[in-house]
Amino acid sequence: MPSVRGTVVIDVDTCKGCELCIDACPQDSLALSKEINKKGYHYAVLIQDNCTGCVNCALVCPDAVITVYRTKKTGKAEKIVTKQPVAVISKVQSNIKVSVDELPEGKVNL
Ligand code: SF4
Ligand code: SF4
Repeated sequence: MPSVRGTVVIDVDTCKGCELCIDACPQDSLALSKEINKKGYHYAVLIQDNCTGCVNCALVCPDAVITVYRTKKTGKAEKIVTKQPVAVISKVQSNIKVSVDELPEGKVNL
């Protein structure tokens, strides 16, 4: 189990199943779904609880549909209390814009 834990949220209906994120993930945390989305594509899904929040997948996604979160641990028991977004990549039109920011708490239900 990696020391830094993370997770990703994927906008599955926008994903076109190009697999770039799957190839870019050093943890082999991602795979294509068996199901298809509204566009008819198999979409990327998280298949293991070993994501480190490294952001590789979000950076390579041509459609910017992945948001990465890292866990924030507090106390002696290292209990996970919040998940903090570390990379939110805006829709890519002509210029790529990558911002590292926090979303308002409760905006994404993990
Ligand atoms: S953030 Fe890193 S470890 Fe997590 S799914 Fe994306 S590429 Fe894999
Ligand atoms: S890189 Fe983006 S569009 Fe391609 S499979 Fe992954 S989430 Fe879907």
